[in-house]
Parts: sequence; structure tokens; C-alpha cells
Amino acid sequence: MRQNLFTPDLTGKRILVTGGAGFVGSHLCRRLLQLGAAVVCLDNFFTGSKANVLDMLPNPRFDLVRHDVHQPMFYEVDQIYHLACPASPIHYQLHPVETITTSVVGSINALDLALRKQARILLTSTSEVYGDPEVHPQPEEYRGNVNPNGPRACYDEGKRCAETLFCDYHRQYGVDVRIARIFNTYGPNLNVADGRVVSNFIVQALQGEPLTIYGDGTQTRSFCYVADLVDGLVRLMERDRFDGPINLGNPIEFTMLELADQVRKLTGAKSMLVFKPLPTDDPTQRRPRITKAKECLGWEPEIPLALGLKTTIGWFKDHMGISGEGNVVPIGRVG
Ligand code: NAD
Ligand code: UDP
Repeated sequence: MRQNLFTPDLTGKRILVTGGAGFVGSHLCRRLLQLGAAVVCLDNFFTGSKANVLDMLPNPRFDLVRHDVHQPMFYEVDQIYHLACPASPIHYQLHPVETITTSVVGSINALDLALRKQARILLTSTSEVYGDPEVHPQPEEYRGNVNPNGPRACYDEGKRCAETLFCDYHRQYGVDVRIARIFNTYGPNLNVADGRVVSNFIVQALQGEPLTIYGDGTQTRSFCYVADLVDGLVRLMERDRFDGPINLGNPIEFTMLELADQVRKLTGAKSMLVFKPLPTDDPTQRRPRITKAKECLGWEPEIPLALGLKTTIGWFKDHMGISGEGNVVPIGRVG
């Protein structure tokens, strides 16, 4: 679907993907295999699932390991993509202590492995490091507006601390690090029960249920299709030096009301909108400035929201076992 794909030859490279059985991780593992790498996919299946990686299991260059990044890791690797961390507000707010320790302790363990093996390591940080931003759109230099003791802090501050650790291992020990700040990404393999807005709206529309709008729906996000994001991650990993954190996201901004309209139009659903309270500290606006990604990586997103949503809706239909209009039978996940 993406035309301008980066295609380095990764034959002979051994690559560890922590959180590899999650939404982004499963797409990344598939792409790395396509590029010739041998991939170790490590996951504790907290929010990820074996179902996301089943198709790769027969590939002799693919290994799946059940492991929690709170524990040290010992693998022979050339590169590490460090994704392990719950990313949906519903899930991380239910398990705040595990979320912040996954970010902090997990990053120390991943960085120690990178140091021992002299491997390059990439952190999937987040636009949440900008909190509820007062600068719009958000450039990498913006230091953010995060509430350090609110219900989102376990995720936001965990990732901010992970960024600090990555920069300090780079400065103190010379570890070859990369940091991606990912903005809202969507696509196939999102868990039906993930709780993030795109999957919620699609599942609700396909089930003929009302779409849940938190607050008045005028808050904004910028949605990046997962194939665009994965191409950006590979470009960043293959970049020959560390340029500091780089935003990866789609700079086209939508309100949640506009997103709901698009989902209703593309699914043909007649769902009503139901308004629920806005969660505490929910950012009112979010849009990446991607000048740095364009200049350093030659990267920008290509997939428009309508096209990405169409593909994602098709995937949800297949995976929810739709047997007729509005008649949906969710199938369980393996793992
Ligand atoms: P996800 O929840 O689908 O994937 C996270 C994966 O990490 C899951 O497979 C989960 O089981 C695994 N995991 C969690 N804790 C673990 C632990 N202690 N040990 C081992 N594995 C563990 O979420 P995602 O959207 O695929 O996010 C992947 C990464 O990208 C995360 O680091 C997230 O913070 C970052 N990110 C994603 C988005 C997005 O919009 N998808 C935006 C910003 C940042
Ligand atoms: N949201 C919503 N309805 C939902 C889920 C989320 O209106 O069913 C809103 C949420 O309040 C936020 C935006 O959609 O303003 C994006 O939420 P999401 O959880 O996807 O990611 P966030 O960017 O907040 O981490």
C-alpha cells in the first residue's frame, strides 16, 4: 500500500523485538523478516497475543519467546527494537505500577543487553511525553506539559524516564541508541478489546452499537497507518547516527467527532453517538511536526485516513466473524 518503502538488506542481522506480539510489534516483525533478518519476538502477552504472530511461526528465521522485560535478557543480537509496554490508556491505567516499572526496569534490561552485545537499540517512545501540549503542532524541542502524578503519568513519565535512560546510556557508555516518538497509530492487529479510539469506534460500528465519544469530541489526534509507521521505524534504526528523539506520526489532524463520522460512513453503520465523561488529563490537541523525520529519514506518511480505515475495517470484519449486518461474533485470541 505504501509506495516509498525503505528496503535495506537485513540478511544475516539478528534482531530482537520486545513487545513483538503486540499491535505495532507484529507488523514490525513481519517487515524485518521480509527484509531478510532473523527475528526474536519477545513478549509476556500482557496486551499482545500469539494470534498476531501465528503466521510467522513456521518461518525458520522467526523465534517467539515468552519473557517479561522486568527480567534481564540474554540473546545474541545485532539490533533491538524495544517496544514492550502497554500503550492503551485503559490497560495502562488499570496496571499503573507494572506500566511504569515496565518502562523503567524494562529499558534498563534492554539497554544492558545492548551494552553487552554492542547492539543498536531503538526505543518506541510516545507523543505522550508532550502531555497536554501548549505548543501546537509539537516539535521535538518542546519539553511538554505532563502532570507527573495524574492517572496517565505511569505511561507518560515512564516513557520520559526511558528516554532519559537511553540518552544516559548513550552519553555514559556509548550505547548506539535511537528514539522514536510515535503519535497515534492504527491498523490491523489492534486488539478488539484494546480500548483505543480507532478500534473502539470500528468495533462499535460493526456491532451496530453507539460510538462512545469522550468529552464533547472536539479534542484532536493525528492518526498514522501502521505500515507508514513501521517504515519510519526501520529508517530510524538504519540511520547512521543518533540525532535525538524523532517524531513519527501523521501531521493531518482530526477531531474525534470527525473520526466517528468517517467510521460511520466507511462501515455504513447507523450508530448513534453517546457522550461519556472526558478522562482526566486527556490531551485536548495533538499533531506532530515531522520536519526532522523528513530531513533525517526522508520519511513522511503516505496512507490517507480513509484508505487506512477501510483496510482496518476489513480486517476487523474478518477477525470478528461477521455473519451478517450487525451480527458479529468476536473470536477469542490465542495466548
Ligand atoms: P500493544 O499493547 O499492542 O503492544 C505492547 C506489547 O508489549 C504487547 O504485546 C504486550 O504484551 C507487551 N508487553 C507489555 N509489557 C511487557 C513486559 N513487561 N514484558 C514483555 N512484553 C510486554 O501496543 P502498541 O500500540 O503495539 O505499542 C507498541 C509500542 O509503541 C509501545 O512501546 C507504545 O508505548 C509505543 N507507542 C504506540 C503508539 C500507538 O499509537 N500504537 C503510540 C505511541 C507509542
Ligand atoms: N476516545 C473516545 N472514545 C473512545 C476512546 C477514546 O472519544 O471510545 C478519545 C480519548 O478520550 C482521546 C482520543 O479519543 O481524546 C484518543 O484516545 P486513545 O485512547 O485512542 O489514545 P490517546 O491519544 O488518548 O493515548
